[in-house]
Amino acid sequence: MEVILGKSAGFCYGVRRAVEGAKEELKKSKGKTIFCLGEIVHNKQVVDNLKNQGMEFIGNIKEAKERAIIRAHGVEKNVYKLAKKMKINIKDFTCPNVLKIHKIADEYRKKGYYIFLIGSKNHPENIGTLSFCGDNVSVIEEKQDVETAIEELYKSNIKKLLVILQTTYSVEKFKEIEHLLKEEFKKNNDRKIKLVIKNTICYATELRQKETEDIAKKVDYMIIIGGKNSSNTKKLYEIGNKYCENCVCIESPKELDLNLINTFSKVGVMAGASTPQEVIEEVVNLIK
Ligand code: SF4
Repeated sequence: MEVILGKSAGFCYGVRRAVEGAKEELKKSKGKTIFCLGEIVHNKQVVDNLKNQGMEFIGNIKEAKERAIIRAHGVEKNVYKLAKKMKINIKDFTCPNVLKIHKIADEYRKKGYYIFLIGSKNHPENIGTLSFCGDNVSVIEEKQDVETAIEELYKSNIKKLLVILQTTYSVEKFKEIEHLLKEEFKKNNDRKIKLVIKNTICYATELRQKETEDIAKKVDYMIIIGGKNSSNTKKLYEIGNKYCENCVCIESPKELDLNLINTFSKVGVMAGASTPQEVIEEVVNLIK
């Protein structure tokens, strides 16, 4: 059996930075509790490992004492203010790609732009980003939401529109939404909407999605490894499923159906940005 493992499978730069940074903070803490606001990354194994080393995961900065770290997905604007007021020493491991989106949103909000944020409404990264967008914002999760977002924009009477995206959004879906928006403003040229699109999907995501597609087209069975609540893993699964008839998404090697896998001659393996290397290796070794 041939096993094709994606070169970009596993930790991306932002996740590695956050996880290694969290471990470093634990080492320096000399037994004192380190609080982490939200899951550091969306992966159970990583979170459990840090919990075992003494990290406490909290849902609100008000639960922290003395020191807290901020996850790779980032947080809302007011968390920084609150931490300062509570004299909490913050270690910010927000991925620089996410910080860049916060900066863009803030800059264009100040310039009076209406903002379309493409991504899932309830994802922590977007909850953080939304806090930098102000009141004139609409979220587009899927292309079906475009119509409502456009109605909201027209209702606001704002003539300048910024489009930004969740870092892990699907490149393919974004292209469809971009096309719909351009068509709409071409059709309604008299409304004179100034459209600025900043493709903020991160390079690591783009690369991983492309590689998933390439591998899925070549294999008879495709395995995507990642946290059940990981948005980028879900997107990889959607891509794998589109191009390979037999695609599964697993969080742990225990979920592998080895008897079934044995019936295929070419198996592809890809993993989300927050999947640890050990888990990927375990999956590949088990199959081999
Ligand atoms: S997926 Fe991209 S934006 Fe998200 S943490 Fe990794 S490098 Fe940063």
